[in-house]
Formats: sequence, structure tokens, C-alpha cells
Amino acid sequence: MEANTHHQLVIIGGGPAGFAAALYGARADLKPVIFSGMLLYGQASQTDVIENYPGFPDGIQGVELGKLFEQQAVRFGAIVEYDQVLSLNLQVRPFQIQTYSGSLSADSVILAMGADPKKLHIPGEEEFTGRGVSYCGTCDGFFTRNKDIHVIGGGDTALEEAIFLTRFAHSVTVIHRRDELRAGAILEKRARANPKISFLWNTVVDEIRGDEKVRSLMVRDVKTGEKREIPTGAVFVFVGHSPNTSLIEGQIALDEQGYVKVDAKMSTNIPGVFAAGEIADPHYRQVVTSAGMGAAAAISATYYLENLE
Ligand code: NAP
Repeated sequence: MEANTHHQLVIIGGGPAGFAAALYGARADLKPVIFSGMLLYGQASQTDVIENYPGFPDGIQGVELGKLFEQQAVRFGAIVEYDQVLSLNLQVRPFQIQTYSGSLSADSVILAMGADPKKLHIPGEEEFTGRGVSYCGTCDGFFTRNKDIHVIGGGDTALEEAIFLTRFAHSVTVIHRRDELRAGAILEKRARANPKISFLWNTVVDEIRGDEKVRSLMVRDVKTGEKREIPTGAVFVFVGHSPNTSLIEGQIALDEQGYVKVDAKMSTNIPGVFAAGEIADPHYRQVVTSAGMGAAAAISATYYLENLE
């Protein structure tokens, strides 16, 4: 991209929300520029098979769905930049955007930077990340072949990933801090029926231990207070997400959980700035809902830009 170009619409984030916004923005002839960020196709790219995106009755691989989103947006004129936004100034008009490869300005911006997996913030977690601690089964499952491993969390992600990891691991123990899962009924049924999966209830992990790689977990029963050390071949942490708002901190209204506040039209408190997908959604976090929010944000941006002229 040429330096210091001006655009009507810039979209930040290349997950389902960003690409759906790019598709709708392109079809409105806004020639949107979309910055894919570091993780092309967002968290969906790290999902093995997506079974609940309408139109794919047999499921589709996360990366494949992302590629289709991209192709469709590009076909109508979206400009995809495989680059990362380093800073964003929403206090000036037009809005200013700085990336690795240069700077540009925009009349409207759609924030679709998504969310990242939450950390446990316990001793050993950071130290052993990449050496037996992981946040992505699709990425690191292969390394768990024939091992007895642990998954932390009781939501849909934890169970979906635990089931996926049974392809490689000898056994998967799900450690959950309560005795009731947060995950939905279908995943719970599948996980309970899987002979390689067992559950450690009412249990939290206080520390991850090892040498050159992870060897054990210090766990605590939250009911009895009993502590013990259990051996492990690897540990996968799936305890929710936090929105990626570092680019916009102090510039835009966030809710009490740190998500971007949007109204029903995906408008933020700054006219011309919209948000879509997990950065603005603490509730649904589905590919289909993120894509829907992206489409709505682009339609709202189109109306906004029409009224500017
Ligand atoms: P989530 O629903 O927020 O679940 C997080 C899990 O981690 C909960 O069980 C929670 O325990 C536990 N947890 C949180 N903090 C913890 C801590 N410090 N220590 C130990 N455990 C902790 O997150 P998610 O599973 O990533 O799902 C996010 C969203 O994506 C959900 O809306 C989910 O439905 C959706 N999703 C859907 C699918 C699908 O439809 N196939 C797949 C993946 C994700 P508590 O239950 O005690 O709070």
C-alpha cells in the first residue's frame, strides 16, 4: 500500500467479523481496507472443525471457512493487508492509522480485533508456555501423542478441545473448578461418552512444574482444601477470553468487563467508529454472530459515510 493514503473505511482485524464487514463494505463500493493482524482468520483459524456455521451441514475447517470469507470479500473489491495496526488515533479527523508498512487515514473505522485466550496467571504458566503449556489444541495437539494430559476449564472450548486432543493423547483429564460444566449439552454428552476423557471436579491448578518441559501440576480441591501434585504430559488452558482493546485504550468507551460498548447498530461512542465480533461481544462469541455483527457494522458505516458527504 502507498504511504499516507486516505480511505473511506478501514477494518482492523481479519476474523469472521472483519471479513464480513469487508464483504458488506466492498459491496457498498467503499473499497474497504482490512488489516488481517497476526492471526489470519482470527480464532476461527485455530478451530479444527466448525460444525455450527449455517450452510455447512458436514462442518468446515476453521482455516477453510476463513479463506472463503476472504475470497468473497476480495471478489467485491476489499483490499486485504496482511499487516498489523500498531497505533490508532481516534481523537482526530480523519482517523489516523499506523501500521508496520506505513500510515493511512480513514473517515470510518470498524474495530474487529477479537479476543485472546485468558491466562491463569499462576507460577510456571508463562515459563512453560510452548514447553507443555498451550492455549491451542489444533496447534499443539500433535505433540501430545500417547501422553496423559490435562485440560483446564469447563466451557465449550475446553470440551471441544479435550475431544479433539483425544485423537493424539493417551488420556485427557479435564480439570474444572466446579462440579457442573458451563459447556452446552451436546459437547458435555460427547465428552462424557469419550472413553479417553475423565474429569477432576472442584479442582484448581495452583502451579505448573517441570524441568525443560512440563512435568506436573499442583492442584487443590476447592471444597476440602487438599493439595496434591499430579504428573502431566501437557496442559491446555481454556478459561475464557479477554478482548483485544490495547490499541484503543483510553480512547473509547468500554463496558465493565473491558469489551467495546456498542449500540444495536454497532456504533461506539465515537461517531464513525464501529465495533464487531468478540471485541464487543462478551455473550455469544460464535462465528455466525461475529459475522452478523461485522455485516451490521459495515451497513452502519455505509449510512454514516453517506451522511458525511
Ligand atoms: P467460557 O464459556 O467463558 O468458559 C470458561 C471456563 O473456564 C468456565 O468453565 C470457567 O469456570 C473456567 N474458568 C474461568 N476462569 C478460570 C480460572 N481462573 N481458573 C479455572 N477455571 C476458570 O469460555 P469458552 O469455553 O472459551 O467459550 C467462550 C464462548 O465461545 C462461549 O460463549 C461458548 O459457548 C462459545 N464457544 C462455542 C463453541 C461451540 O458452539 N461449538 C465452541 C467453543 C466456544 P466457571 O464455569 O466456573 O465460570
